[in-house]
Amino acid sequence: TWRVAIIGAGIAGLAAAIRLRLAGHEVGVFEAAEAPGGKLSELRLGAWRFGLGPSLLTMPHYIDELFELAGENPTDHFRYRRLDVVCRYAWEDGTRLDAYADPLAFANETERVLGVPAERVLAFLARGEEKYRLTGRTFLEKPLHAPSTWLNAEVGRALTRLHRLELTRTLHEVHQRAIGEPHLVQLFDRFATYNGSNPWRAPGLLSMISHFEHGAGAFVPEGGMPAIATTLHALAERLGVHFAFNTPVAEIVTQNGGRRPRASGVRLESGEVQGFDRVVSNMDLFFTHERLLPRAPRPERTLGQEKSTSALIFYWGVDKSFPELDVHNIFFSDDYRREFEALEAGSIDDDPTVYVSISSRYDTGAAPPGGENWFVMINAPFSAGQDWDLLRARLREKVIAKLERMLGETRAAPVALREAIVEEAVFDPTTIEARTLSHLGALYGTSSNSRSAAFMRHPNHSRHVDGLYFCGGSVHPGGGLPLCLLSAKIMVGEMARREP
Ligand code: FAD
Repeated sequence: TWRVAIIGAGIAGLAAAIRLRLAGHEVGVFEAAEAPGGKLSELRLGAWRFGLGPSLLTMPHYIDELFELAGENPTDHFRYRRLDVVCRYAWEDGTRLDAYADPLAFANETERVLGVPAERVLAFLARGEEKYRLTGRTFLEKPLHAPSTWLNAEVGRALTRLHRLELTRTLHEVHQRAIGEPHLVQLFDRFATYNGSNPWRAPGLLSMISHFEHGAGAFVPEGGMPAIATTLHALAERLGVHFAFNTPVAEIVTQNGGRRPRASGVRLESGEVQGFDRVVSNMDLFFTHERLLPRAPRPERTLGQEKSTSALIFYWGVDKSFPELDVHNIFFSDDYRREFEALEAGSIDDDPTVYVSISSRYDTGAAPPGGENWFVMINAPFSAGQDWDLLRARLREKVIAKLERMLGETRAAPVALREAIVEEAVFDPTTIEARTLSHLGALYGTSSNSRSAAFMRHPNHSRHVDGLYFCGGSVHPGGGLPLCLLSAKIMVGEMARREP
């Protein structure tokens, strides 16, 4: 049995705590905030509740797995349902499309609305599933940095079908060739933003994301997204994990003597030092090195990798209801390429794609009767000294005007959104960085804008400090809730493999 310290109670920190405790270790979690969840925590504004970050739940079986491992029935603690319509899409030219989770229903709808033959869409989705089958387990479920990952039949199979993976094409090229129709190409291109990347640069292999959404499906959890963190925290407590909230770690204590320094405990901001056999950081990789290990050697190349995009988020407590909206809604920009060019240039285009997520649609207590909790997000570049006050003010006007215009098209009377907003908070990349300690406000750690970065994130162990491990969105296999849950799983496996 080891004594293991985990720094951070984000989704990956919680999953790691549960797994390590189930493996028989003594686990202490130190969390700077007053509650668990990190990016997955809750924001309250008056009578409205919001999920601070994630709004879309995919692959919930990775959450169920934690309850099952603990010998519990997941549905006793954590319930969710599958959405029939994953997202409602709107374009400036008046086109409206409900994207069904079921591939056949989705393909029939794209044929009806956009005139794209259903077989073409089904073939494209099947191709995404094939990419996932050929590579998913290798890239996402295993430590990329262990020889056994590469020397197996699955990799052999993938190598014989390399051409099927479309490694040399960008995601946009793949969509252009397979689909062609501009609305649908834009719809699929948007999936690059699921890991904060640019479809004109991200590798075509990422088209497997379409399969996650139209096939595997999207889900809504009872109690809203932050309930994922609170139920996992409760599970960890039942198992005997110790939590210390409002307890930032100031330093990872190391001992010299061997070939490399060895993590031997944590020093809290209060000055208290606690000894541990292993230390896991669920904190952003960059800040772990910058703040907690200022004297240790750093993985400079990884730390220098391009960051994923960030976001400008408007949390609006709205006192009206908009029945034409669904849980997830997208209002597309007219020129998607220009939107990404602006992001690459460190700015935001005046006509951004607007995402509106309304969790009070399924979690009715999140807004007062007759009202709705709007989580409105547009893509933003990671923070690099921009004038965010100016960008926030300018984009707020553009977003309200766009939504009023596009919602108005289906109504007889003009839509008065501005007056309906009675509570508001706005987060920009600097707020996101300060609030979630994510370097430069990046939502998903590093970007997947190049073939190497997409699959070569920092490993789940430290190459410079023995006994130090990492899990979470800034390390392998990447950001987003399912990958963070996998990162905890891989990290725990690596700990057992490297130091049996
Ligand atoms: P984090 O959530 O980053 O938590 C790290 C924790 O460490 C925090 O609680 C922090 O307080 C703590 N900490 C940091 N430093 C210290 C310290 N020194 N001492 C103690 N504690 C410390 N994913 C999806 O799957 N679907 C989505 O729809 C989605 N949308 C998103 C929208 C936004 C706006 C954001 C920000 C993210 C979104 N994501 C989404 C990504 C997802 O939220 C993240 O990938 C995931 O939650 C990151 O989890 P993590 O385990 O890496 O830890």
